Amino acid sequence: MPPRFPFDNSYARLPERFFTRQAPAPVEAPALVALNRPLADRLGLTLPEDAAETARLFAGTTLPEGAEPLAQVYAGHQFGGWSPQLGDGRAILLGEVVAPDGARFDIQLKGAGRTPYSRMGDGKAWLGPVLREYIVSEAMAAMGVPTTRALAAVTTGEPVLREAVMPGAILARVAASHIRVGTFQYFAARRDAEALQALTDHVIARHYPEATGPEGLLDAVIGAQARLIAQWMGLGFIHGVMNTDNMTLSGETIDYGPCAFMDAYHPDTVFSSIDQFGRYAYANQPQIAVWNLAQLATALLPLLPDRDEGIERFTALVNGFSDRFDAEWHAVLRAKLGLATEDEEDAALAFDLLERMARNSADFTRTFRALSGDTPQSARDEFIDPTALDPWLTRWQARLAAEARDEAARITAMQAANPARIPRNHRVEEAITAGVAGDFTPFENLMQALAHPFADDPSVAEYEAPPTDEQRVLRTFCGT
Ligand code: AMP
Ligand code: MG
Repeated sequence: MPPRFPFDNSYARLPERFFTRQAPAPVEAPALVALNRPLADRLGLTLPEDAAETARLFAGTTLPEGAEPLAQVYAGHQFGGWSPQLGDGRAILLGEVVAPDGARFDIQLKGAGRTPYSRMGDGKAWLGPVLREYIVSEAMAAMGVPTTRALAAVTTGEPVLREAVMPGAILARVAASHIRVGTFQYFAARRDAEALQALTDHVIARHYPEATGPEGLLDAVIGAQARLIAQWMGLGFIHGVMNTDNMTLSGETIDYGPCAFMDAYHPDTVFSSIDQFGRYAYANQPQIAVWNLAQLATALLPLLPDRDEGIERFTALVNGFSDRFDAEWHAVLRAKLGLATEDEEDAALAFDLLERMARNSADFTRTFRALSGDTPQSARDEFIDPTALDPWLTRWQARLAAEARDEAARITAMQAANPARIPRNHRVEEAITAGVAGDFTPFENLMQALAHPFADDPSVAEYEAPPTDEQRVLRTFCGT
């Protein structure tokens, strides 16, 4: 008997032109690589006792009862260029489960075979990007960043042809929804106002029940994205492929392709091999968000009774992103610096530090973590020229002295804002290389080291180390 998940598939009840019903392709020899039990419990899933049966389930070879598998259609701007037809080309939505607390989640199998939206692709995934997404999305969740989650990873026992023959794999992904800016663009481009209205109603009911109409929705999404991107920036996270089809309406991070965390801080950092011009560089992310949100605003315009007046109101909302982002970003920076109160000089204080870090190739994570300890001077060790930090330390200490908060409370607060461990690229690569060779120990150890990123833990201190010159990862690849 296949297990029964608490499905309630509201997307499958939308008009048929929103998707194509499509079952996952059965796979040869599914084997379980990882299972996220706490997440399964949070969703209220009852899983088979047997690992082989669980593997078949998350490979899509056995369907849980109540699943209504489908591929969602969307469009999008990829690196600024318009693609009128994208969609789930290698992912199948099994359905939505309603957790015991009433929260609704998509369960999607990524790498589950061809769909009508696969274009030239094979609909498959290989183990590398599956492990990368598993590691990074779970680390983001552990650091409190809104994100899609990894429920399980399986290998399929089938070869996948990339630059070389690679082991096939599938990621069971969980999301508040998989609705993207590109989903709205798809219907707007087809002048399908009826579909746009249905999609708007669906997203409001699902994610922003307090919002009214397209304007309320746009406003809520702008707020959620401003918060999200401020959180990315605070962790040195570079998404790498912020196309409009990779930006969710829910405000969750999605699509961990060429993403990476910076080691040494520099605002122009880019890792993605396909981002030739640095469109999605670290410091460009807020501007790209505005660009994407302007596309969402454009897509929503047909729903407004008066187009000219609508353009004016939507333009004002989109332009408002930058102030809203700044407010979120400055709050993140104040938390990172242990400031409980607000002063108008705080942002300048933070930017002064960041500039010094950039000039001295200071490690982003290690510098902030060192400042969070009881010997903040040790942050000097992260700088090529340690004396470059001294004037800033003096300025920061003076600012801290102006607050009533005692030192222990400040340290506790700073340690909760500045992780000790992030998924460093060389560790992610190491886990992938070993996994492809059949050894999942480095993957498991890395997952364990990242489970409590804000806690000091000497037993996993090696994961705090920056890469050596030989270990440094210079390029990341879109994981298809
Ligand atoms: P991404 O760059 O991962 O956001 O994917 C962009 C588009 O390409 C989406 O429509 C994907 O579904 C599609 N795609 C990516 N990889 C594959 C693949 N291996 N097979 C089919 N479609 C794919
Ligand atoms: Mg995508």
